[in-house]
Amino acid sequence: MRTISILGATGSIGASTLDLVRRNQDQWRVVALTANGNATELAKLAREFSAEIAVVADESQLAALREALAGTNIHVAGGAQALVEAASRPADMTIAAIVGCAGLAPVMAAVEQGGTIGLANKEALVSAGDVLMEAVQRHGATLLPVDSEHNAIFQCLAAGDLDHVRWITLTASGGPFRDWTLDQLKAATPAQAVKHPNWDMGAKISVDSATMFNKGLELIEAWHLFPVGLDKIRIIVHPQSIVHSMVEYRDGSTLAQLGPSDMRVPIASTLAWPSRMDTPCEPLDLAAIGTLTFRAPDEVRFPATRLAREAAQAGGAAPAVLNAANEIAVAAFLAGQIAFTRIADTVADVLSSYAPSAPASLADVIAVDGEARVRSRALLEPA
Ligand code: NAD
Ligand code: MG
Repeated sequence: MRTISILGATGSIGASTLDLVRRNQDQWRVVALTANGNATELAKLAREFSAEIAVVADESQLAALREALAGTNIHVAGGAQALVEAASRPADMTIAAIVGCAGLAPVMAAVEQGGTIGLANKEALVSAGDVLMEAVQRHGATLLPVDSEHNAIFQCLAAGDLDHVRWITLTASGGPFRDWTLDQLKAATPAQAVKHPNWDMGAKISVDSATMFNKGLELIEAWHLFPVGLDKIRIIVHPQSIVHSMVEYRDGSTLAQLGPSDMRVPIASTLAWPSRMDTPCEPLDLAAIGTLTFRAPDEVRFPATRLAREAAQAGGAAPAVLNAANEIAVAAFLAGQIAFTRIADTVADVLSSYAPSAPASLADVIAVDGEARVRSRALLEPA
């Protein structure tokens, strides 16, 4: 029996993780389950899985959570500090599935326990890259990538040595607007942006897929996870989302990981690592799929990957600034306040006007993130 905590249990990744845990209840004991504010759903899950502790980040929902769990012996807590405390409870496996930089402090708390972290929360790694990777080393933690592309690369790298890698190729679906013109993109609505052709995901990452900021964030994520150098990591558009990423070695061998567009596959690979477990996913039927296509990304219509590469090259605080500006701009777009194409414009503007020194600690990263948010909001305010 192993113990597991799920940070962001009520989200898309949280649900996929709990689906696998539910099918293997004899193997897992749940420690902490957390959510932002959905006390009803969190309480339901905490009861079903007999969690030790349930935490809502939004303190105003604590009373509702307490009421919903009355009569159980599940510990209940609320607020940012409680979230960090829950994440620092010992667990064999922590699935980091909070969306955004809001997940950074809890991820760091889990890292400091030296356990195994299945990382879906890419924004945490983008913002705090060096600080987080250094903490992983220092505390002897194991960071396993849940993000499908990075999970694919991780699996392909098991077949060779990092020194022998010629290219890491991240695949991108291209999102719902892959074939749209710039004029069409300017008029894209939130409802259209969250309707991803292949994946069923939370709203923020769906918009990121539509802008290609998701791939930009993933480029920075890969750069930290797999230290081959930024110039050896490239992006290719693959609309079918069957090849989840590839590694080419010096001898010309390219290894790829393929699978259905179902996050339960990379999550299962993480939960069972270094072994394997069953999933309920349909076996891959390549004859039925028939055709796999690939093309170069278009950084004129989708400048996000270029901005992310430039932020990584600039290093220091730039990735944290890029991430914060993107989070604010995506929220404004989802709220109907700005046009779709203004997301990338905002990120570019904030990056060119705010270049703080490299963060050396978690507190530094959080300060840079906070200031970048203030500046992004100021830019987006109607004149
Ligand atoms: P989601 O919006 O469905 O769920 C987010 C979870 O985080 C929820 O449990 C929510 O309650 C919690 N949360 C939100 N804001 C919070 C806050 N301020 N403080 C504490 N908790 C908060 O998102 P998702 O699609 O599950 O994505 C989660 C993470 O996984 C993201 O970083 C995303 O990029 C990454 N990811 C998702 C997928 C996918 O298929 N959904 C694939 C790869 C990576
Ligand atoms: Mg991904």
